[in-house]
Amino acid sequence: MSYFRPAIDAMTGYIPGEQPKPGTKIIKLNTNENPYPPSPKAMEVLHNLDGEWLRRYPDPFARDFCQAVSDALGVPADWVIVGNGSDELLNVLIRCCAEGNNRKVVYPMPTYVLYRTLSAMQPAQVLEVPYPADFQLPIKELVAANGVITFIASPNSPSGHVVPLDDLRELAQQVSGIVVVDEAYVDFAEYSALPLVQEFENVIVLRTLSKGYSLAGLRMGFGVANPKLLAGLFKVKDSYNIDAIAQAVGTAAMRDQAYKNACADKVKISRIQLAQDLKNLGWEVLDSHANFVLATPTQGNAESIYLGLKERGILVRYFKQAGLEDKLRITVGTDEQNQTLIEALVSVKK
Ligand code: PMP
Repeated sequence: MSYFRPAIDAMTGYIPGEQPKPGTKIIKLNTNENPYPPSPKAMEVLHNLDGEWLRRYPDPFARDFCQAVSDALGVPADWVIVGNGSDELLNVLIRCCAEGNNRKVVYPMPTYVLYRTLSAMQPAQVLEVPYPADFQLPIKELVAANGVITFIASPNSPSGHVVPLDDLRELAQQVSGIVVVDEAYVDFAEYSALPLVQEFENVIVLRTLSKGYSLAGLRMGFGVANPKLLAGLFKVKDSYNIDAIAQAVGTAAMRDQAYKNACADKVKISRIQLAQDLKNLGWEVLDSHANFVLATPTQGNAESIYLGLKERGILVRYFKQAGLEDKLRITVGTDEQNQTLIEALVSVKK
């Protein structure tokens, strides 16, 4: 007999990704980190942190951070829940709501792989609705799937497209469960679904400090929703889920919107250049509203190009899953990194 529940035995398990140590010469364009350093104001807080902060347990509600979110985004502080990365909040949502076949998790595909993984752990049944080729939100099919949770990543990964607010509004009106708008990449997009949380009690918008704020290593994300929805989530999250260092540094980063926006603007300009350079080399590139592009080679195959780049010390993301065959997701790096990538693509074996 296995020690583990059947749902766990059935899982493949986490395969340590391609995560070289900081300081190595690798050009890392595989996990959508921001190429620029965190806010200098956040780093100053880190360097000056008082030991007293570490002696004591951290605030279970990260209230300083919630206040910084409130000031930055114009939402009430008690409409904010903070997670150990937005991944933790995805997990908390599933643990709170999903179970078996009657309380299903629904999402359009392709999208962020963790929705499937966390549902499998619960275990909860998933219903995956394919996106059409033009990435219009399949509202009718999503509503018919009747999920207790419907996850919509916008901008989506790995496609990079954004979902129009009217489509999200229609979805929120028609489903009986929760609509989770996962805005991990919103800092590189033109608009947010945040206004919908005021309109709909069943909408939660998730954000992260991992991308726009250059703090993937800090593990901090947050959700904004009506306190009635948050009440259930607060029961399930770990009490001390955000450590004291993350609370202090994350709060300073949230208060430095000007720095975050300046870095995001640089990334957006580089994204245009990278997409154009790839197109000039004959690649098909989807329009992206995130800090990555999804690109398909018209010569050779994506897997051998991915391996060739890896040999040259450049990591990009190669997907094997159905619907994403022969595509690479490439994080927007600094202009210098992007240029090195483009030069490598010219010489790599196709
Ligand atoms: N949502 C999406 C769509 C993502 O791509 C990611 C990061 N890979 C996350 C959520 C999680 O981000 P984090 O846990 O670092 O906040």
